[in-house]
Amino acid sequence: MVLPVVALVGRPNVGKSTIFNRIISQRLSIVEDTPGVTRDRIYAHGEWVGKEFSIIDTGGITLDDQTLNKEITGQAEIAIEEADVVVMIVDARVGVTPEDEIVAKILYKSHKPIVLAVNKADNLDQRQDIYDFYTLGLGEPFAVSGVHGTGMGDLLDEIVKKLPAQSEEKADDSIKFSFIGRPNVGKSSLVNAILGEKRVIVSQMEGTTRDAIDTSFVNEVDGQSFTMIDTAGIRKRGKVYENTEKYSVLRAMRSIDRSDVVVMVLDGEQGIREQDKRVAGYAHEAGRGVIIAVNKWDAVIHKDQKTMQEFTDYIRKEFRYLNYAPIIFVSALKHQRLEQIVELVMTINENQKRRIQSSLLNELLLKATAIAPAPTVKNKRLRLYYLTQVATTPPTFVVFVNDPDLFHFSYERFIINQLRTTFDFTGTPIKIIARKRK
Ligand code: GDP
Ligand code: GDP
Repeated sequence: MVLPVVALVGRPNVGKSTIFNRIISQRLSIVEDTPGVTRDRIYAHGEWVGKEFSIIDTGGITLDDQTLNKEITGQAEIAIEEADVVVMIVDARVGVTPEDEIVAKILYKSHKPIVLAVNKADNLDQRQDIYDFYTLGLGEPFAVSGVHGTGMGDLLDEIVKKLPAQSEEKADDSIKFSFIGRPNVGKSSLVNAILGEKRVIVSQMEGTTRDAIDTSFVNEVDGQSFTMIDTAGIRKRGKVYENTEKYSVLRAMRSIDRSDVVVMVLDGEQGIREQDKRVAGYAHEAGRGVIIAVNKWDAVIHKDQKTMQEFTDYIRKEFRYLNYAPIIFVSALKHQRLEQIVELVMTINENQKRRIQSSLLNELLLKATAIAPAPTVKNKRLRLYYLTQVATTPPTFVVFVNDPDLFHFSYERFIINQLRTTFDFTGTPIKIIARKRK
């Protein structure tokens, strides 16, 4: 499912990241413990009164060597382009500034739904003194305090009210996948090479983001249909912010949200960067299938038997949590092993949808506890009663235990490994939830 998008804009220091963190904090406590994902976060999911949405802090996309005006103008453009609802944030203690007026004018012209939040209204006086902000022409100002949390409920009510009822994207039964990776690793070359290999292109359609083009094609051999999700870097449009790392990370995350399977592309001649880890970590947390494709393998000279193994070891070390992701060495230029990409996408999608009977799972649980007896923590022994699958895509299991606090990460990893050796879950993350048996 594709979530509607909310974007926060405003001058530096008005409190965008404070409000962003407040909106997403509820969810953070439940999920996300992959290293590197949380730092400098500018994109996450939020929820209010049962409505889910994605949220972008455009303040995190900074432009080097640009004036403040250019920077906030660029951020407002990103917000308009990416979001369904834009929240403009201003500072109650500073009042209306010329930069606020610039941003307001751009937003007003876009005809996007806008919500105006007056932040740092920490006390009653400040909350009542917000009427100057009507001059921005963006409608009723909502007084909030990001630090104290006051006014956040009314603000979120208003945001949710303005969200579109359902995303425009139509559901179909094609397998959706995308190529993710830094600029110049060869994403668009891979897209073109794959489309060039005797496949029937069904259609190219506008993605949810303006200018994004998704391509649908059918495999001639088996008739399976696929949708290749367009990604930042594939179609370049020449805007100033497009070359920034943060923006490309943001676009990658948006593409991951829309994909079943993500092909993480690395450049065989270069190493893994922080940016790669953040994006890969996001795909993992989002429960997407992952393939790691090392492209430009043709250009790696002096390679022998060991080179591939060394690069594999390096990837495994850098992306420990992606131990389930197949690694392939390809060349878009020489059309080497490209067939494997589409085949793996299909296999992984099958694995994501795999359902295992409870009887088999409980056999596995019996065997597993015989191999490695459940640990004892502070004189209390973990007891595992029952294992059952509750969801697919990603495969999600519930294990009923005597005390969920005793179900530690290492034993969870052990059970996951048992699942992987018994059933084929190649390429897909697995989630396990421990519940107390009533
Ligand atoms: P951003 O640059 O717009 O993302 O702003 P930040 O969220 O980083 O906040 C800038 C500063 O304003 C920080 O020192 C925050 O602690 C402070 N701040 C944010 N929200 C509030 C608020 O509601 N009241 C007060 N008094 N300070 C706030
Ligand atoms: P993107 O920014 O990730 O979409 O990367 P591009 O597809 O635009 O490729 C960047 C550059 O790498 C171009 O000059 C391509 O010709 C080159 N390139 C892409 N794939 C390969 C490959 O498999 N081998 C070699 N040697 N060069 C490649």
